[in-house]
Amino acid sequence: MTNTRPPVALIGAGPGDPELITRKAARLLQAADVVFHDALIDRGVLELARPGARLVAVGKRGGRASTPQLAIHEQLIRAWRAGLRVARLKGGDPFIFGRGGEECMALRAAGIPYEVVPGVTSGSAAATYAGVPLTYRAMSQSVLFLTGRRARGTDAIDGVAVARAADTLVIYMGVESLPILCAELLRAGRSPSTPALAVEWATINQREVAAPLAEFVGACGHAEIKSPAIIVIGDVVALRDTLAFAPAPTARGVCCAAS
Ligand code: SAH
Repeated sequence: MTNTRPPVALIGAGPGDPELITRKAARLLQAADVVFHDALIDRGVLELARPGARLVAVGKRGGRASTPQLAIHEQLIRAWRAGLRVARLKGGDPFIFGRGGEECMALRAAGIPYEVVPGVTSGSAAATYAGVPLTYRAMSQSVLFLTGRRARGTDAIDGVAVARAADTLVIYMGVESLPILCAELLRAGRSPSTPALAVEWATINQREVAAPLAEFVGACGHAEIKSPAIIVIGDVVALRDTLAFAPAPTARGVCCAAS
């Protein structure tokens, strides 16, 4: 019987620009009675929910306490059991540093069906909007997505392993730990001249700061780069000087066009 009900939809909202949401995400969002969403979701994306749908903010913001993860699980389970059509809207892609996996585990344990809609992850979107291809023949054949934060109780960043793991590094939640991270990478042998880039509020109100790795912490401090930001480190960042473009502005009214 449970399988005849629509599953809880874990939906990737993309990096911010409402036009970067998938059609599937928009359709499932419009079908939902209740939308549990992260704090970072742009209003333009939330406006895709149907009028009358309940919007519940449950996200965390920069490590500040808000809804504990277990309470989010409980809310999803309770809403589904109450017969509602439930959407869980997450920034970027739900399965990239989004705790989407943990939420699926909890739903599974409760015997509740779910589906997951991939989204454009901010790490990729931030680089692309900055004119930085994360891979480029003969320059970058590998990309590492990593988080600047560590789950409590686990070791600090292993700079050597990270520095050698890939040509291009894309760091999420890295603003706070940037000084440690850069120091570790330099110590592990990454060249001080390696180009580095910070992208704050990618695709919505994008602000970029670039500097060689050795000067990067100072440059970000000077520009007051704050979370949310994506850090990209690697030779491909230099391509920005040649490839940077002006992203097409988002069409006005796009949020309501589909309703
Ligand atoms: N699931 C998300 C990531 C969530 S973790 C995704 O796939 O994008 C939260 C981190 O993502 C932030 O600390 C920041 O590093 C990054 N982030 C999310 N949205 C961003 C944006 N619009 N601009 C820059 N960074 C962003």
